[in-house]
Amino acid sequence: MSIDYKQELKSKQNEQVSEYINKVLELIEKEEINEQEAAWITKETIDGFREHVNPGFLAYRKTVTKDGQFAAVEWSDNGSCFKDVNGKEYIDCLGGFGIYNVGHRNPKVLKAVTDQLKRQALHSQDLLDPLRAMLAKILADITPGDLKYAFFTNSGTESVEAALKLAKMYSERTTFISTTRAFHGKSLGSLSGTAKGMFRKPFLPLIPGFRHVPFGDIDMMRKTFEVCASVGEDVAAVILEPIQGEGGIILPPENYLKQVRELCDQYGALLIFDEVQTGMGRTGKMFAAELYDVVPDIICLAKAFGGGVMPAGAIVAREEVFKSWFPNPFMHTTTFGGNPLACAAAIATIGVLIEEKLPERAAEVGEYFLKELIQAAKGHEDKVQEIRGQGLMIGIEFHQDEIGYEVSKGMFDRGILVAGTLINSKTIRIEPALTISYEEVDRVVRNFKEVLEYVKG
Ligand SMILES: *Cc1c(COP(=O)(O)O)cnc(C)c1O
Repeated sequence: MSIDYKQELKSKQNEQVSEYINKVLELIEKEEINEQEAAWITKETIDGFREHVNPGFLAYRKTVTKDGQFAAVEWSDNGSCFKDVNGKEYIDCLGGFGIYNVGHRNPKVLKAVTDQLKRQALHSQDLLDPLRAMLAKILADITPGDLKYAFFTNSGTESVEAALKLAKMYSERTTFISTTRAFHGKSLGSLSGTAKGMFRKPFLPLIPGFRHVPFGDIDMMRKTFEVCASVGEDVAAVILEPIQGEGGIILPPENYLKQVRELCDQYGALLIFDEVQTGMGRTGKMFAAELYDVVPDIICLAKAFGGGVMPAGAIVAREEVFKSWFPNPFMHTTTFGGNPLACAAAIATIGVLIEEKLPERAAEVGEYFLKELIQAAKGHEDKVQEIRGQGLMIGIEFHQDEIGYEVSKGMFDRGILVAGTLINSKTIRIEPALTISYEEVDRVVRNFKEVLEYVKG
């Protein structure tokens, strides 16, 4: 090929790419789309997933939807609902696995983010950025006990990474105790804490020093501490979710977390609470730690932290622990963590949670929701094994994966998004906006009851 010809081809390609980009930008700009545009978006999305994203995702969608509904393409959202390109509305009971605590596009969060966007989107990386300082102060005020210093991240996985590195640096130890059914993320560090074999096996060995004990079993936890001490592998930290989310909404046995705290103190280990999913009001308190009256040394946040508008995460630690990073604040860094847009979103989110008493609302609505679901499942004990929850973190466990999938399908058909968990597909998780109305809850329960009637046990 001659150089001229190559250049010509390249510029033709660029022309086509530009044309495509402009078409997409025009669609983004539109307030309403028509039928023809909706069809084009659907086609481009399915083709794009098949050819350039991951065809496996289309196959997955087919397993959780009826007929051609795998092809539903989301387009807009508001409150406790979102809409697909064809205008069909869904009550979002999956809630992005717990992102939308203050609802989809909460107006106060949107305003803070757009106001900030008009002035400065990202930070210089070198000067002092004001919102990071203000958000850190707010976090020190609202987190339990003497948690005081914050480091900001872009995701839950990154929060867990930061917590693990801080614990290593502080303790100069390398052993961690995690729990079965735990989910802490999928980066090599956080995956070491995650429990599911399927996600870990291809990547072994992960970071050395991780031991898993059954969640809720305090005797095993105690024995593991004893063994670690006796073989000279002192424990840097225990990491756990106060209530396990991804594992299928598993509540801790009475006093378990208090006893874990005592063991940590006895052996000089840190306690890390991964509240990426349980935090920000989800369980009926601002943080699940408060439910059990236990103060961790490090708390990990993300998911709802950015108000369902910005990706944002944080760890908050006690001064004694965090001060390991005082001499060199560059020991652990991230370019985008704590950026002004994310901080603006988090500050507004915490404001909404407090002003609108959303943790309290999660407790009230959650109790009602749980009671109604249990009532609706009466007579279907052959299909439903257990319904449990805390606040608006509810799990419906079926006897088999298959039943869970069928119920998900039926619900989606009726405009309600629920999710089988990735790790434990026998359990459907319900994690709607904490602002969900009682009418919407009733609609979900009514449909659940109707779907249960026809699904085969
Ligand atoms: C979702 C989740 C994570 C991972 O967060 P990402 O933002 O997906 O990286 C970690 N821990 C818990 C408890 C979670 O629920």
